[in-house]
Amino acid sequence: MIDFELTNGDKEVVSLARRQAVGYQKRAKSIDRTMEFDRPDFAAQFAFEGEDDIVHVRDFAQARADDLSSLTLIEPLIYLEESYGFKPLYWQGQNADAMNVSLSGKLIEKVGTPEQVAAFSDLYLAWGMSEPNGGSDPKSLRTVAQYDAATDEWVINGEKIFSSNATHADGILVMCRAIGPKGDEGISLFVVTKDMPGYGVGPQMDKLGLRNWDTVATFFMDVRVPALNRLEGNLKDALSIFNGTRALIAGQALGYARVALDLVRERFAEGGRTLNYAGSLSTRSALEDRILRMEALWDATYLTMLHAKWHEQAHGADKFYPSLAKCKAGLMVRKLVNECMEILGPGSTSESLPVEQALRDARILDIYEGPNETQRLLMARTLLNYSAKDLN
Ligand SMILES: Cc1cc2nc3c(=O)[nH]c(=O)nc-3n(C[C@H](O)[C@H](O)[C@H](O)COP(=O)(O)OP(=O)(O)OC[C@H]3O[C@@H](n4cnc5c(N)ncnc54)[C@H](O)[C@@H]3O)c2cc1C
Repeated sequence: MIDFELTNGDKEVVSLARRQAVGYQKRAKSIDRTMEFDRPDFAAQFAFEGEDDIVHVRDFAQARADDLSSLTLIEPLIYLEESYGFKPLYWQGQNADAMNVSLSGKLIEKVGTPEQVAAFSDLYLAWGMSEPNGGSDPKSLRTVAQYDAATDEWVINGEKIFSSNATHADGILVMCRAIGPKGDEGISLFVVTKDMPGYGVGPQMDKLGLRNWDTVATFFMDVRVPALNRLEGNLKDALSIFNGTRALIAGQALGYARVALDLVRERFAEGGRTLNYAGSLSTRSALEDRILRMEALWDATYLTMLHAKWHEQAHGADKFYPSLAKCKAGLMVRKLVNECMEILGPGSTSESLPVEQALRDARILDIYEGPNETQRLLMARTLLNYSAKDLN
């Protein structure tokens, strides 16, 4: 029998995270309102816990982002985050280890030369794909890198939007159309560091949810980039990185959904009631039946997510199952949080309960890292063996 229980080590991390999160609660609520946050002083907030512990939780969660067992860990950490507003500590890592876990770090590891990996391995780089005129359709990107033969440099001009963590990152891995000595060379990948003249970061975007998540526009005005900073890879390589991360988004969704579901279960248990799993439909109350159906949907999503990651580890990188997990999770979390709010009544919209924030934070899950409509297209293409040209 396969056991999806947390290991003792994972339980320790979750319990440490919970202790730290409780201390962070008040500040998290204020960030959700004001969006004012400043990474460097996070450690000071937790001086009472000791900095080593903070680094431990964050690095542990991040370093295992590719590991099947980490999926069982991500859900409870997201749950804590939603209950206590914990995100900045462990998601927004900005240290040497981030190289292995950020989208950009993974891409550099995949396509970088040994010289490039050595040059950029200590950097935390944001991911610059989406633009005002194109995110789902990266072929339409307008940011351009023009080769300058006189200096052997590339000159980048353009704009990116929704660049996560760019405010505090060391720079950005930017996708742009390369115009080389022989003309258009297609979408290429460039490392831009924050000390390069002409690179700029905009103000925080005022968002519905994920308000403690650094999300800004980035600008490139004649940014001169040395030849070393152009990676060998192309758009296909960049998109392939998402195959490994989409299942993690399902982990996020499960954490948000459980916040709402737990509250409903808590209310149900008030007065000593217990859920009747054994009885038939006719012996259960309507409320019990709704809770059981929601639990079944949550479990099905959890297993879909684990299956996606298991499939990747057993059979190699794959597009279909991560997309399936992401689609299912996006639909699941919207249905569950909304249904729980119906059951909990108008009080659930109050800021004093975490449900309204779960509703806001979860809304993005079936949009970012590729909207669900495009995930469905992707799955259909895989099943039917169609190219992007055949089905778009
Ligand atoms: C909080 C947050 C963080 C983000 N972080 C990053 C980041 O770090 N780096 C980055 O590059 N981007 C980031 N993004 C951007 C995000 O990945 C994109 O917004 C997302 O992929 C959608 O792309 P788009 O904005 O171009 O929307 P569009 O592609 O314009 O999509 C708009 C709508 O059209 C639908 N649609 C699009 N194409 C099709 C089609 N072929 N068939 C049917 N329907 C279609 C979509 O489903 C969607 O509902 C972030 C966004 C948010 C909100």
